[in-house]
Amino acid sequence: MVSRTLCEVARSHPRSAVKIVCWLLLLPVVVTCNSTPPQSKQNVPVRTQVVIQPLGEVEESLLQTTKLAIESKINVTARISKPVPLPASAYYPPRRRYRADQILNFLYGQKSRVGDKILAVTMVDVSTAKPPHADWGVFGLGILGGKSCVVSTYRLNKPGPKTLRERVAEVALHEVGHTFGLEHCPTPGCLMNDAEGSIKSIDSSSGDFCPTCLHRIK
Ligand SMILES: [Zn+2]
Ligand SMILES: [Zn+2]
Repeated sequence: MVSRTLCEVARSHPRSAVKIVCWLLLLPVVVTCNSTPPQSKQNVPVRTQVVIQPLGEVEESLLQTTKLAIESKINVTARISKPVPLPASAYYPPRRRYRADQILNFLYGQKSRVGDKILAVTMVDVSTAKPPHADWGVFGLGILGGKSCVVSTYRLNKPGPKTLRERVAEVALHEVGHTFGLEHCPTPGCLMNDAEGSIKSIDSSSGDFCPTCLHRIK
């Protein structure tokens, strides 16, 4: 089964069933889940932290590359957390894979500072509903303006001009971008560009946010 969907983005609350398809469709989105940057005791804003949460076994090199990419492209700190098992609640027996939206629900319940983000990385196949499909394989899923997102390596490990590490890092940045409120971007080459909705989209990406997206994410 070949998926043409690069990722999806869930709108507002993670328990909401409302989603738009990333890299294929661009629909108007209302951001209703604003986050407030954490404050120190001296009321000085603390840098947002992106917690990279491996779900199940994940190659360390993928995590390290993703961490470096996030810290080099966004004004945040990133931390790799200890791996935890994939949540049983996310398993989808009919397709023997995991529901990305349920993974986001799981992440939503994880303890974190207000304003911080959680990026789950997993090597298993993940999916979500994409009407009229009840279950559609995706590369990742992110909550627009929310706390959590997930990227799967499963559909990114194919021959091509970019390595798996590069692709994982770029999809991770795309999904983290959604959590910072970035929608899809029409600028060719931008990390948030929804282009063709295939792995070719990733391989044709510049690996950077365009100036407009970069300005919005800061
Ligand atoms: Zn997207
Ligand atoms: Zn852009």
